[in-house]
Amino acid sequence: MGKGFFQVPTALNEPVKSYAPGTPEREEVLATYKSMYNSSVDVPLYINGEEIRTGDTGTMSPPHDHKHILGTYHKAEKKHVQQAIDTALEARKKWANLPWEQRAAVFLRAAELIAGPYRSKINAATMLAQSKNIYQAEIDAACEFIDFLRFNVEFMTQIYNEQPESTSAAWNRLEYRPLEGFVYAITPFNFTAIAGNLPASAALMGNVVVWKPSSTQMYSAKVLMDVFQEAGVPAGVINLVAGSPSMITETLLASPDFAGIHFTGSTGVFNDIWGKIGTNIHNYKTYPRIVGETGGKDFIIAHPSANAKQVATGITRGAFEYQGQKCSAASRAYIPKSLWADVEKYIKEDVASFKMGSPEDMSNFITAVITESSFDKLAKYIDQAKKDEDVTVIAGGNYDKSVGYFIEPTVIVTKDPKYTTMCTELFGPVITIFVYEDEAWEETLQLVDGTSEYALTGAIFSTDRYAAAEATKALENCAGNFYINDKCTGAVVGQQPFGGARASGTNDKAGSYLNLLRWVSPRMIKETFVSPADYRYPFLGE
Ligand code: NAD
Repeated sequence: MGKGFFQVPTALNEPVKSYAPGTPEREEVLATYKSMYNSSVDVPLYINGEEIRTGDTGTMSPPHDHKHILGTYHKAEKKHVQQAIDTALEARKKWANLPWEQRAAVFLRAAELIAGPYRSKINAATMLAQSKNIYQAEIDAACEFIDFLRFNVEFMTQIYNEQPESTSAAWNRLEYRPLEGFVYAITPFNFTAIAGNLPASAALMGNVVVWKPSSTQMYSAKVLMDVFQEAGVPAGVINLVAGSPSMITETLLASPDFAGIHFTGSTGVFNDIWGKIGTNIHNYKTYPRIVGETGGKDFIIAHPSANAKQVATGITRGAFEYQGQKCSAASRAYIPKSLWADVEKYIKEDVASFKMGSPEDMSNFITAVITESSFDKLAKYIDQAKKDEDVTVIAGGNYDKSVGYFIEPTVIVTKDPKYTTMCTELFGPVITIFVYEDEAWEETLQLVDGTSEYALTGAIFSTDRYAAAEATKALENCAGNFYINDKCTGAVVGQQPFGGARASGTNDKAGSYLNLLRWVSPRMIKETFVSPADYRYPFLGE
């Protein structure tokens, strides 16, 4: 700190723009989308602020138009990954010692760049790279990332303000040091905001980062790097490497200076990484921080007292927005028999009214799933459901990958509450519903709790306060984000800190001070004003 106790601007959630027909933001994002679609981009590695082109490239295509090529990205060799480590450690010497308000200013500037000049670029890139409709792009790439950046600055000052008691004889000061080494950020395809936040949150706290984005998010990752550079993140503080996930990860985890991992992605990948860290533990200079937000099998349970229309809306929005590719997406639901006829009717009406296609046509609610392998996996589960006894596909069930990876939003009803699609994370627009006998409410709560290894999000719909209280207690450990009378998606930074336990992650709550605490290693400093000069205590007297 320099010469003042500086107050940071109060963080407020970025207002979501409407993109309704005739609005300037709609015109602008469509023009940006077209111009990006019609040009070609070449994404380098970013090491020490330099753009490195290795010549070993992968191509980038929109999932809704997979024959079209948006550009290429360069893949790292082992030597580049090592270079990224070396450069980060060199940058650490200055960055870790920069006054906090300077770091805060860099990321507040990044937020303002996205809110203004980069808004249409980051949204259009997310529409193209990850097939989000404009609303899904706006709430993710623009608003959520802006919120992460602004709120994290506020949370940082909240942490720094947390100080122990002192006395007139001794002053106790807690200093929140960055980790001693570098942080490795690994990010998923599905949220541009998460891709930006995992490296940025660690860097804000004074750490240096090597960031590996998902190969299916490289196009919007480049826009994030452009923002970081324009915002003034110094060379070497956030380094981007792309390419073979296993080679990059093994190289980084082998470094004695590896000090922490900030991961979001699937449970299996995180478990492997955890195992590798364990194997390497004797090599590290410090115990690494392991933060991972992973998979989910998120649920909606309706009590017989619930409003059928609200339940159906919770299901259709919760399960199908962004093609069910949110970690929080509802993928299993439990509906009482007395409510089922109405809920079924409303769900079918909703699904029949969805339009599916390219996000460039803004009347499309549903676009494509991310990759061919995801498409093929989903098609396989749908085909199997069509064959299996005790299972009925009541809506959707068709798919077509000739132009884009389009899977119709699909609703499966099962008589077996442990049917495979009730338990396995499919990560697509498929929800499975189990209809329970009204009298079996309590057993059904146990079923919800015991069906999945995950514990990310879940929702209960009820107008009966006793039932809501009972469910809140019974489902205490099966969701880190629990909703009453709302869908189980759409957490907002600063309002609903996000993360789950069990196989869903370390529950370090992105979008709160709890996450930032993982990126600091506090040092306690006690300063005694007048030091004792005699070892004898009074009790030793004769
Ligand atoms: P993924 O696990 O396939 O990939 C995530 C990242 O890990 C990517 O950067 C990928 O390249 C990398 N990776 C893949 N294999 C690797 C390996 N062997 N070694 C090291 N890194 C490797 O996940 P995804 O498909 O990008 O994202 C979807 C998953 O992420 C879902 O399981 C979803 O539930 C989860 N997710 C969770 C949250 C949360 O907050 N809990 C948020 C978003 C996504």
